[in-house]
Amino acid sequence: MDKLNKEQRHRCMSAIRAKDTKPELLVRKFLFSLGFRYRLNYSRLPGHPDIVLRKYRTVIFVNGCFWHGHNGCKYFVIPKSNTEFWKNKIKRNKERDVREQKELAAMGWHCITIWECQLKPAVREQTLRALVYTLDHIFLSDRSLKHYDCQESEHLFVAENSSE
Ligand SMILES: [Zn+2]
Repeated sequence: MDKLNKEQRHRCMSAIRAKDTKPELLVRKFLFSLGFRYRLNYSRLPGHPDIVLRKYRTVIFVNGCFWHGHNGCKYFVIPKSNTEFWKNKIKRNKERDVREQKELAAMGWHCITIWECQLKPAVREQTLRALVYTLDHIFLSDRSLKHYDCQESEHLFVAENSSE
């Protein structure tokens, strides 16, 4: 019942931009509108990430707070009946998430997790801005690792001198 209500609320508040109100679609449409290009549910990667940005060597998971056990989140409440079942179920989901992210990291992918609660209307804009900031940072640091590695210490030295 609670789930249905949430769906309906999502539907109402998304009128401005997104016609489809699923959280991962919200993120996709936002990124697309800023010129990011991505692949969806790239099944060859562990965990089948929701969004794959190859150019950024980054995958994005949009996680439901309940199913993925968002720590300290008010949307993550273990049901009062079948408590042990749910605890184990969510625990296994979390362990799988960690395992998959480790695999992705070992393959050289950056992993970004966005929680559904971070896409609620009051905080959505802030979350999406932070996402773009993170992607820019990843892109720049990847590039600087490739091209400007040997100049790094020189830059630091100049900066320190000029501040004196
Ligand atoms: Zn949450």
